Amino acid sequence: MGKKYWRCNVCNDIHYGNAGPEFCPTCMTKNAYAEIDEQEAKKVMKLG
Ligand SMILES: [Zn+2]
Repeated sequence: MGKKYWRCNVCNDIHYGNAGPEFCPTCMTKNAYAEIDEQEAKKVMKLG
């Protein structure tokens, strides 16, 4: 199955994998990750 991009909606951290992490490793917020598409992920990473 294809992996997906996930973004923390608190600190905009990007995670790539089958599911978003339960806790964001950057801001420690629980269940903060939302699925985004690859184009959006690259845009965020370029800005970030
Ligand atoms: Zn975060």
